[in-house]
Amino acid sequence: MRGDGTDGAGSGTGAKAVRRRLLSWYDANRRDLPWRRTGDPYAIWISESMLQQTRVETVIPYYERFLARFPDPRALADAELEEVLELWTGLGYYSRARNLHRAARVLVRDHDGALPGDAESLRTLPGVGRYTAGAVASIAFDRPEPVVDGNVARVLARLHAIEEDVGASATIRRLWKEAAELAAGPRPGDLNQALMELGATVCTPRRPRCPICPLARRCAAFREGDPEALPVKAKKSPPRPVRAVAGLVARRGRWLAVQRPTEGLLGGLWELPGGEPLPGEEPSTAMVRTLRERTGLAIPGVDALGDVDHVFTHLRLTLHVFRCKPPAGRVRLSGFEDHRWLSPDDFAALPQGGATRKALALAAEG
Ligand code: SF4
Repeated sequence: MRGDGTDGAGSGTGAKAVRRRLLSWYDANRRDLPWRRTGDPYAIWISESMLQQTRVETVIPYYERFLARFPDPRALADAELEEVLELWTGLGYYSRARNLHRAARVLVRDHDGALPGDAESLRTLPGVGRYTAGAVASIAFDRPEPVVDGNVARVLARLHAIEEDVGASATIRRLWKEAAELAAGPRPGDLNQALMELGATVCTPRRPRCPICPLARRCAAFREGDPEALPVKAKKSPPRPVRAVAGLVARRGRWLAVQRPTEGLLGGLWELPGGEPLPGEEPSTAMVRTLRERTGLAIPGVDALGDVDHVFTHLRLTLHVFRCKPPAGRVRLSGFEDHRWLSPDDFAALPQGGATRKALALAAEG
């Protein structure tokens, strides 16, 4: 890690100059985004939650639909989880939706239906970590709280030529410290948004636009000539491959949909019944077995429809999809929350993950 030198942004006059440049650049260049037209802490919280791991253009229509249906914490708290998940379908990382729903209930119970203004209280809400607490406290309440997301980490790592792995805890501490120093001035909410905006639009991962950057004169990585080499990220281990089977079980033109338990991966979402094969087990055998064990239905056999691949953060799933022969018996669930027999259209309208959407598309073709 390089020292800050005399003009480091994290020290005295350096920080002041960086703040001034960032704010005037932001005033002239900020994108007009729906959540920037409101001062409502609830709306800002929803937008910050949606924006994690998700692109701005993707978020906009989801944000607008969500706010129209749940305009305040009380409306969200009163809703059924399934309706919240339905509005979230396609955004991914469904734990965010479950946490928003839980947190809205906490707000109604403990905070009179309003978001608290300090980061410490915000962090007691389900799903609200250091980043979201800092974003809401600074943007909605003008508190001098820092934020560090991927964009901010990249800008700060380049500004200070930080050459250590940005995922290492010592580097993370340093980045938060630098961000805190910048946020400890006027307009902390705008300052944080300026850093994020600069990372999203100018100090991009590839080919940063240094010649038009307001920080170029103070940027150590630019001076050293190779900003794209930063930030340094240690190689992540590749997603672990997993296999599963899923079966289209039909009765009188309706398909069997099962709901996953609320907790855990894809919690509360709907899917085709199935499960994971045992080591060495043929997928078709696993289909017959998991259906019997997890739904109580016995089937005489299956026809293969094909495979779909889906990547989660840590997993690479190969889902073997089958059309099941007509089942016998009554549904008795084990390890699923609920079940429904639905027309293909009604099934498609349920909240579901990407792998199930792909499997249903395969089933519709087959
Ligand atoms: S000068 Fe270049 S590397 Fe430095 S902050 Fe600006 S865009 Fe990023």
